Amino acid sequence: MHIYPKKSLGQNFLKDPHYLGKIVDAAQVGPRDQVIEIGPGLGHLTRALAETGCMLLLLELDDRLIPRLREEFGPRTTVQIVHADALEYDYGGLSGTWKVVANLPYYISTPIIQRLIAQRGRFTTLTLMLQKEVAERIAAVPGGKEYGFLSVLVQYAAVPRLEFSVPAGAFTPRPKVDSMILTLTMRERPETVANDEALFLRVIKAAFSQRRKTLRNSLGQLGYPGDVMNAVKDGTGIDLGRRAETLSVAEFCRLANFLGSKHGENAENPI
Ligand code: SAM
Repeated sequence: MHIYPKKSLGQNFLKDPHYLGKIVDAAQVGPRDQVIEIGPGLGHLTRALAETGCMLLLLELDDRLIPRLREEFGPRTTVQIVHADALEYDYGGLSGTWKVVANLPYYISTPIIQRLIAQRGRFTTLTLMLQKEVAERIAAVPGGKEYGFLSVLVQYAAVPRLEFSVPAGAFTPRPKVDSMILTLTMRERPETVANDEALFLRVIKAAFSQRRKTLRNSLGQLGYPGDVMNAVKDGTGIDLGRRAETLSVAEFCRLANFLGSKHGENAENPI
């Protein structure tokens, strides 16, 4: 049965064996691994992964594809097929540790990365096909315009590695954007720990929401009173006259930890 690709589900299928092999190599998948593939689609990458002998959990949202996946992979005891939205799936219910390998639908790439990072205790590596700009933003270092919320959030939890580009012509249908494979290796422990990760997220979100402004201005929306803001320099060594893009991940942690230590003491209405 012919299946028409659904644009709304980000269906750009990758059939080229050269790139499929490179993705499996980049993910370093072997027979002892447990691997989640998000969006197996027509099963091209799934086939390459299954050949390694790994345990595979497939999460596919498109109900048209499920019977086809069951027909091909159902008889394999090493493959489990789940009709699910990868944005809703309960990764916390899994046992053991897992690698994630995915040619992601680009419309969900940022929320899915946020969700996987939030449940990162379950994962060792994430090997993801992303829009090239998004992969570069995630791996960006401080000081440039690509460095932002996603860079800090991801690098707090993982070490990113840009693997290789995949040309639009390798997909069917051809996407309008360039693509790149990125591997994230989860840190066992962040280099500097944010004592309150929810606050850390609020701080980086506020800081980059007005990235051309100084931190003093952009962090104003968090509601800390002037005396707390005035104490930041002495408490952390961070000058609030700087812009968000100049701060390292460790500096954002220090800033959030300092503000967190003032919570309930001086903060009027932190969000
Ligand atoms: N892995 C296949 C390949 O490389 O050819 C297909 C990749 S295609 C870019 C994205 C796949 O993700 C599609 O099969 C699509 O139906 C599926 N998908 C889209 N949104 C999803 C979601 N929220 N949860 C799970 N799968 C999803």
